[in-house]
Order: sequence, then structure tokens, then C-alpha cells
Amino acid sequence: MMVQQREAISRLPAYKQGTAAGDSGAYKLSSNENPYPPLASVTQAIASALGEIHLYPSMAVAEVTERIAERFNVSSDNVAFGAGSVEVLSQIIHASAGAGDEVIFAWRSFEAYPILVQVAGATPVAVALTADECHDLPAMADAITSQTRLILVCNPNNPTGAFVTADELHAFMARVPENVLVVVDEAYVHFNRDTASAVGIDFFRRYPNVAVLHTFSKAYGLAGLRIGYAIAPTAVAANLRRVALPFGVTALAQRAALASLDAEAELTLRIDEIVAERTRVLAALRASGWRGASSQGNFVWLRTFNDTDRVNAVFIAEGILARAFPGEGLRVTIGTAKQNDRFLVAASAALTPAAV
Ligand SMILES: *Cc1c(COP(=O)(O)O)cnc(C)c1O
Repeated sequence: MMVQQREAISRLPAYKQGTAAGDSGAYKLSSNENPYPPLASVTQAIASALGEIHLYPSMAVAEVTERIAERFNVSSDNVAFGAGSVEVLSQIIHASAGAGDEVIFAWRSFEAYPILVQVAGATPVAVALTADECHDLPAMADAITSQTRLILVCNPNNPTGAFVTADELHAFMARVPENVLVVVDEAYVHFNRDTASAVGIDFFRRYPNVAVLHTFSKAYGLAGLRIGYAIAPTAVAANLRRVALPFGVTALAQRAALASLDAEAELTLRIDEIVAERTRVLAALRASGWRGASSQGNFVWLRTFNDTDRVNAVFIAEGILARAFPGEGLRVTIGTAKQNDRFLVAASAALTPAAV
């Protein structure tokens, strides 16, 4: 006889990690990782904390919380950390929604959303993107019911790179009941250069039911250390601390985050470089006849529909590991100039104007 397990769990798709390059010489552009190695000051900060790994870390993530509270001019009561913003998102979902409750998000968006919602026992309500790859906020507002407890807005959206404008999000908020929490997931906020875009923290300040998710994984290059946070209404942030895995954020991650905040000027240069490369890649794709959408993330989105598997096979043959969503498209992370050049070669081999 089998041990009894929740049936909903065995039906869940496993979260799929981007393919590892191994020693194939291929470029891994499948996980939206930062192509730059850690800054020396950051590795030094981590090294200096190694002598204390026999001790538990600050459970309150005290120092980083202070720094973030100062930075955004919010109370430290509004800041809650986790082992990556995915863990914070999981905390938010568990604190907001259980069996019978609904969580609305756009689709396709971050693949962790439907998984985490179902792990919490809640019901995912996926609302299709518009034809131009954006959140369909009017349709998401139409999807609100008395069971809705939480709405996720991914800005800019992973994997399509499209952003939500401030005007659109204000119009949306006017239709969201105040007892429903709206989370603006800003994992890629540092790469978002469109001034029309909604900025999560502005919405947090203006509405009592908005939380913002930030991560050190992408722009700050700490994906391997796992640290992210929410800026949330006080009562929500308090619940996130209740739900959080105790001591989930390691001391090494906390040290690295502090060192990264100290090195922001240096990190900003790298971010600017990635944004410049994104502009170059999009321009080169367009020059070769591609008609896809722009992106405000550190990735580009190729809407290849049923041609996805073929295009992906060409990419692999050309040494480019992208993130393929069969039937939908491919997401390709912006890497170093050299990596991007190889991607552009692969793209011109794979993409005919008719195919995209
Ligand atoms: C990468 C990503 C995250 C952050 O992941 P962590 O490494 O857990 O901080 C969150 N949301 C989206 C949409 C992402 O793409």
C-alpha cells in the first residue's frame, strides 16, 4: 500500500530548470541569469562570513531589512525576506489563499505561479495575455470573484518582456476590492527602462492592498545565493514572517546582499550594459525581418508557436540553450556581447520572417 499523499501534488508539473551547458561549449541563455561573475567585493564579503557558518543567520535578516527600508523610505515592518523572491511569493500565496480560494495571474507568465498556487491548495485562475504579449488587465479584473484572494502582476512579464503601464495598473486597481492583495512581481525591474511603466513601490504607497516583490537574483547576480524580499502592507509582511521557513535566508546571502547594495554604482554599469545589449539584439533581429515584441527584461521572447521545437533544435545545434515553451515560443536571456552574437547567428539560421 502506498503512503497517502495529497493527490493535487502528484499532478503538478515539476518546475523546469533551464538546461545546463555542461562542458558542451554551448551558452546557457535559458534562466535569465546575470552573465557577469560576482564582484570581488561581494565574494570577499561572502568569504569573510565563512568562519561563522556554524551559527544560525539573523532570522529577521535585520541589516538588509534596514537598508531596504531606508532605500525605499518605508518602515522595516513593511519588509519581509525569503530564500529568493520565489520563496517570498510562496509565503504570500500561503498567507493569502487556501482551499477554495482563487489566485489570478496572467498566462503565459512565470511558470512558478500555477505550481505554487496549487501547492497551497488554492485554485489558479490564468488569464490569457493580449495578442501583443501584455497582461490583459481588464480581463483579469473581469475574472475577480468573491473567492479571489490574490492577484499576481508580473512586470515586466517573464517570459514575454512586456510591461504594464502605470495608467493601466491604476485603472485595474480601481476595479480590485481593497480586501484582495495585488502583488507586483518586479524581478526584472532594474532592466525596465520604459518611463510609462508602472513602478511597484508607487502603487504600494498609494494603495493599501499592494505588495512588491524584488530579488537579488537577476540584476544583482546573486541567483545562486537565494535572497529576495517583499515590500508589503504591515499586516501582510507580519504574516510573511509567520509563514517563512525559519532561517531560510543564509548569512552568506545576507552578507552578499549588503555588499551588493554597497556596490550599486558598479552593478548599475553592468545592468546598463545588459540593457544596451538587449537594444542591440532586438535591433539586429528586427533588421533581419523579425516582427516580435520588445522586451523590458534581461531576455527576449520569440513567439514561434508550433515552430518552437524546430527553432529550438537549430539553436541547440548552434550552441544556444534557450528556454523553449513548446507550442508557444522561446525565451532567450541577454548574455555577454559574445554570447549574444552567437545567439544572433543561431537566430538568423533558425528564423525566417515567415516563421515569426
Ligand atoms: C527569476 C524570477 C523571480 C525570482 O526568483 P528568485 O531567484 O527566487 O528571487 C521571481 N519572479 C519572476 C517573474 C522571475 O522571473
